[in-house]
Amino acid sequence: MGPQAGATDLVAAVDVGGTRTKAALVARGGREVVSATVPTPAGCALPGVLVQHLERVVRDLLTADAGSHHVVACGVVVPGLVDDKQGVARWSANLGWRDLPVGAPLSGQLGLPVALGHDVRAGLVAEARLGAARDDRHVLFVPVGTGIAGALMVDGHVLLADGYAGELGHVVVDPTGPECGCGARGCLEAIASAAAVERAYASSTLPAPDGAGRASAERVASLVEAGDVAAQAVWDVAVEALARAVTMAVTLTGVDLVLVGGGLAQSGETLLGPLRTAVRDRLTFQRMPRVERPLLGDRAGCLGAACLAWDLV
Ligand SMILES: [Zn+2]
Repeated sequence: MGPQAGATDLVAAVDVGGTRTKAALVARGGREVVSATVPTPAGCALPGVLVQHLERVVRDLLTADAGSHHVVACGVVVPGLVDDKQGVARWSANLGWRDLPVGAPLSGQLGLPVALGHDVRAGLVAEARLGAARDDRHVLFVPVGTGIAGALMVDGHVLLADGYAGELGHVVVDPTGPECGCGARGCLEAIASAAAVERAYASSTLPAPDGAGRASAERVASLVEAGDVAAQAVWDVAVEALARAVTMAVTLTGVDLVLVGGGLAQSGETLLGPLRTAVRDRLTFQRMPRVERPLLGDRAGCLGAACLAWDLV
């Protein structure tokens, strides 16, 4: 704990997602004293809009806390490519920005030190300090949702590489596979994300006669559990793709804990059971990693932002 931080001090933590922004005032041990979830405004890619949004969110938290605590720093996490050191959000396909300075202008507005980080890398930091990876030093964190992101910790260090490390979703697992949003073909994300599972199941089955929307990945998981053959075939393809990518990561980095999060992992052992088997089948000399679910769920990003903020004081 730095010289300015006292026992009742808090940090402000903000996790900016594609549709929602989660924010909280967080104590050092991870307790959220005040929290809020608000829509992420449109037009965040325009200069100033994101910083203005962040400032408002933090000021609303301070108002809700009514000055009961001293807030000593602020942490912000965003998706995409992030340059933590420069405090610049380099690129987000989802939110549309490019080279957006966040750390310095927000710090100026709030009069607080501000850390900017990547949502998934920060989530891994939170899992390592407060969650499922507390006794681990070599960890792959891979949230499987609409897209697939990744973060790696090796020897207790989160790999950064100017923000380019850990993009497991864009490892090619099938060169003949479907096109990916990034422009390549057969990326893990194009085959095994929740969105890809939904697409694959919809195209392998007849449309519902009542015109109902296509099955969600969650629904596909329950169909797998119920013995649905078409769902099982789609699931097997996704599991094999994940196993291939996880095996690459294990071979390259030696991680011995794989935390699989996001929407697809909510099916629990329906995903993790066959994934463990498929990874084990591929390994020869490598250590078999534990393949588990993270503990912090959708709070990981916000708590990760808090960890980054605490590191400033
Ligand atoms: Zn890709």
